[in-house]
Amino acid sequence: MKTSSAAVAVPLLDLAAQYRPLRDEILHAMTRVADSQRFILGPEVDGLERELADMLQVAHAVGVSSGTDAIVAVLMALGIGPGDEVITPTHSFIATASSVSRVGATPVFVDIDPVTFNLDPAAVERAVTPRTRAIMPVHLFGLPAELNPLLATARRIGATLIEDAAQAIGATYHGRPVGSIGDVGCFSFFPTKNLGAFGEAGLVTTNDAALARELRLVRDHGAESKYVHARVGGNFRIDAIQAAVLRVKRPHLAAWSEARRRNADRYRTLFDEFGLDRRVETPVETPGCHHIYNQFVIGADDRDQLRAHLTASQIGTEIYYPVPFHRQACFGEPSRGAGPWPAADRAAARSLALPIYGELTEAQQRHVAASLAGFYAAR
Ligand SMILES: *Cc1c(COP(=O)(O)O)cnc(C)c1O
Repeated sequence: MKTSSAAVAVPLLDLAAQYRPLRDEILHAMTRVADSQRFILGPEVDGLERELADMLQVAHAVGVSSGTDAIVAVLMALGIGPGDEVITPTHSFIATASSVSRVGATPVFVDIDPVTFNLDPAAVERAVTPRTRAIMPVHLFGLPAELNPLLATARRIGATLIEDAAQAIGATYHGRPVGSIGDVGCFSFFPTKNLGAFGEAGLVTTNDAALARELRLVRDHGAESKYVHARVGGNFRIDAIQAAVLRVKRPHLAAWSEARRRNADRYRTLFDEFGLDRRVETPVETPGCHHIYNQFVIGADDRDQLRAHLTASQIGTEIYYPVPFHRQACFGEPSRGAGPWPAADRAAARSLALPIYGELTEAQQRHVAASLAGFYAAR
């Protein structure tokens, strides 16, 4: 007899399930842009920026071409470059650190907290030098980083606190949206993020009017007016068609993130039921931090064998991230004094992301739990 769960495939992400009920509205919005023939910046982008500034409780929101470009544009606007150091976690998506290298500055890789996977404030303190110009915590997987001690360090040394909020739109830290707490926030609308565009797009948030003005210049070749350039910038503009799609999706974000939270709870209940609580570590929620579960990342022994077992059960997984920055060839020798990095090395060896998207069914999650239990029962 075939067990019912054996027939349930569980992709890591199912974007079509989210798209289906919004299809007509999204196509209507895209048609609106096509009919207007205004593809770059313009009223759709202005509208999106207003709506996101309101939602994220900031004075200024500047739409840009991607989350990566959000970080690069911020560093350029701040005038960070050769000779400057920017502290980042060593365990994150590559853009967090490579953006620092791209502007000619030095990324300084700091270890994470072993439980939250976010930047360890005490390790940051030890990595500060007279060259530290910015500290860039990442709200990894959607869990807000411990911002208060990082802000205190940044203020004391006169550095800028840049929040890499690419994975955490809508997450809150002691009631305030991430991206509104540091000096500046960077967001991504890459399709796999909780608020995903139909291609590339990003956003910068700040309450600093002068920085916002500089960001608008940097985004558009430093142009104050047509062909008059106040500074060297780039093409970091957001497409109107992406803005139009995002304006349709944005009002649903809170409900989508709540569905992810419900699914995280359901995994915890199922893991209990299957006796998995002693076999795998599940994501934590720290006091005052509202997690939006862009990813649900477990820690497990024999991670690679476990992953192969889940793949054979038609369960999609991913490893975020298998190689920390301090071991990436692209950065060469890591900056002296910033290590060691035991928590990041441990996370790289044990982390496995399970499907967590809002449209997951209970049957699918049960299949994941049963498959995990099957793996450990056999060893
Ligand atoms: C996705 C992501 C980025 C980059 O965003 P893109 O839109 O893909 O360029 C930067 N930092 C983190 C932590 C991310 O997850």
